[in-house]
Amino acid sequence: MHELAISRSIASIAERSAHARLARGGTVTTVEVDIGHLRQVVPETLVWAWSFVTEGTALDSSRLAVNHIPAVLRCRACGAQTVLTDVFTLTCGTCGDGNVEVISGDEMVVVALIVEDNNG
Ligand SMILES: [Zn+2]
Repeated sequence: MHELAISRSIASIAERSAHARLARGGTVTTVEVDIGHLRQVVPETLVWAWSFVTEGTALDSSRLAVNHIPAVLRCRACGAQTVLTDVFTLTCGTCGDGNVEVISGDEMVVVALIVEDNNG
């Protein structure tokens, strides 16, 4: 259950980032993350894991919005950029060469936190 570990890291990043506003009584409503294809995460499972991990914490009842980032490789042999469809063969989709550079797909970044301040 790889998604649980990822949820825990995202939750700790989000709590740290929102710390000051949480301390003033704010509520985190949405945490938006970029998750690269190479992370091999099932978004539905990640969302389930999120509700499990955040239950009873400062992030309880917040929504996890997952942006799936495709894995893009650039081939050093022929220069082609191809989108990877499976994660087990890191080879160029055009010429099949294994000398490739990962352009995107390795992300695990909190890109936005929506916090509602308590105005009461
Ligand atoms: Zn190539």
